[in-house]
Amino acid sequence: MKLKVMDVEFGYASTPILRGVNLELARSEVLSIVGPNGAGKSTLIRCINRILNPQKGCIQLDGSDIFQMTRMQIARQLGYIPQSDHQSFPATVFDVVLMGRRPHIGWRSGRRDKEKVLDVLQMLNIEQLAMRDVNEISGGQRQKVLIARALAQEPDVLLLDEPTSNLDIRHQLEVMDAIRTLVAEKNISAIMAIHDLNLGSRYSDRMIMLKKGVIAAAGSPFSVLTEDNIKQVYGVDAAVKEEDGLPYVVPKSPIKHNGGKQL
Ligand code: ADP
Repeated sequence: MKLKVMDVEFGYASTPILRGVNLELARSEVLSIVGPNGAGKSTLIRCINRILNPQKGCIQLDGSDIFQMTRMQIARQLGYIPQSDHQSFPATVFDVVLMGRRPHIGWRSGRRDKEKVLDVLQMLNIEQLAMRDVNEISGGQRQKVLIARALAQEPDVLLLDEPTSNLDIRHQLEVMDAIRTLVAEKNISAIMAIHDLNLGSRYSDRMIMLKKGVIAAAGSPFSVLTEDNIKQVYGVDAAVKEEDGLPYVVPKSPIKHNGGKQL
């Protein structure tokens, strides 16, 4: 499955947010979207998942325009994992993940669907939570449940919006390891919006850095995470070191300008 975003522009009401966004994603690739708060990372993810409708441009899956597809067709190919998902009514982890099968089965599930759910719970190492209420588990466990629900959809592309926000470092690494492993084992691909530049560097094949809705840099973590790009896009002085053959960003201080006023 190849995902192509071509010249996408999007604005809420009259305020332009994304401008001239182009990207391509090949099978087995993990692409991170980084950039400051408000740069448009979530907006881009939501355009790709067709939650939002760009005013210009085109998004294709294997050459087919996603705006010509039905919701069910999209759900069979794109698995969206929101930042958080507030479940207010009681539901077991098993049932929440089973909901991910809906694009394939409608409302009636069979034995195969239940086996699929158990498979993904095992893959993410949360099968022991199957009968727990999702409202009564930790943030890290909940994040894995959301990933499990998207995987039960058997999508070709995972779209993750800040998969590690609110997680401690152990859970951050567990969730990111799970995503990388799944992409390799299932031969799918993933796009994730992520704040943490170092996690992005460690777990992505390619990165794009957004600044005010425009791609300011794109390419390998080494080509995107440069001191100059971080200065231009975030307004932060940082040293970029190398660790395990990957760039590692050490932020120093916000750049002062305009008579000492911080960005
Ligand atoms: P990021 O994910 O990079 O932090 P977002 O995509 O959430 O950025 O937001 C990009 C811009 O769009 C921000 O200026 C934000 O205030 C604005 N925005 C986000 N959601 C809405 C909305 N529903 N209505 C109007 N403006 C919005």
